[in-house]
Amino acid sequence: MESNSRRKFIRTIGLGSAFLALKGQVYAASKKTVQKPVVLATWYNQATRANEAAWKVLSEQGRALDAVEQGVRVTESETENCCVGLNAMPDRDGIVTLDACIMDEFNNCGSVAAIEQIDHPISVARLIMEKTPHVMLVGAGAQQFAVANGFKLKGLKLTPGQEAAYKAWREKSHYEPVKNIEKGEHGPFAPEIMESGEYNHDTIGMIAIDSKGNLSGACTTSGMAYKMHGRVGDSPIIGAGLFVDNEVGAAVATGVGEEVIRICGSHLVVEFMRQGLSPEVACRKAVERIIKKSPKNLGDSQVGFLAINKMGEYGGYAIREGFDYAVCTSQLHNQKVNAKFLL
Ligand code: ASP
Repeated sequence: MESNSRRKFIRTIGLGSAFLALKGQVYAASKKTVQKPVVLATWYNQATRANEAAWKVLSEQGRALDAVEQGVRVTESETENCCVGLNAMPDRDGIVTLDACIMDEFNNCGSVAAIEQIDHPISVARLIMEKTPHVMLVGAGAQQFAVANGFKLKGLKLTPGQEAAYKAWREKSHYEPVKNIEKGEHGPFAPEIMESGEYNHDTIGMIAIDSKGNLSGACTTSGMAYKMHGRVGDSPIIGAGLFVDNEVGAAVATGVGEEVIRICGSHLVVEFMRQGLSPEVACRKAVERIIKKSPKNLGDSQVGFLAINKMGEYGGYAIREGFDYAVCTSQLHNQKVNAKFLL
């Protein structure tokens, strides 16, 4: 770790005891009115359009599960997008492989990892959840299942920006998944950033409570650009990238998946909420856990969590500055929230 970040890191760890005092910030669920429906999704720049689709379902008294699936499908279809759907950045072999998972209010969950040439991995994950005895299918088997269920195989379509970034990357073939750069004026998908090849990972994670008070979540990504072929991140792993417990709340993660997997991040956030912590404090404690447990691996990594509880209260937290999200409620239309951060 370079000395400046190291100093910042040590300073943050030194604050650890102060964080314990946050335990006092518990929420008194029984005294609050439940706010519903609510939907929130990671990374403001992409989340607004996804939230629109989700809100349409929720505002018509639809199910949170349908809302989150419809919502993230919007991002999976977008082309101005570094890291979600078939238009995302490829792995180091030039192949786009996708990860996704979904979880509903009945503890049902479905997941797909390292799937190729299928444009809506979130819907494949939902089909796995609803039509198979399994939770997770990967690679060729997942693709076979998708095709058998009516999904069409799609060719690889790198945009000119992605093509340029991939070619530039191949010159050096230096894998640096943890780089955390300042986002441009137009967000992480601005052409100058895409072409620079510097912004190299992202996810849309969406969690919602519907008008009946039921929770669901969805998470979909291509993971890290230029990852090793076959690498799977946190996003399709139930408990890491996403977790829903309809008695308590839901949480979703974005950022360097390896860090999230190491602490079972989203499950941890939900367990903190079960202990009575607010969504924001629960996310903060999961971020603290990453920092505490991963001093060697952390580097410049970014991780952000979002959470919502059974009362419709929500919050987020990140390791570093720059993580934002969008929220829709009956009062707020795609409100931008800049998550607090620790380092
Ligand atoms: N969590 C994703 C992964 O590691 C990437 C991201 O959200 O930035 O695959």
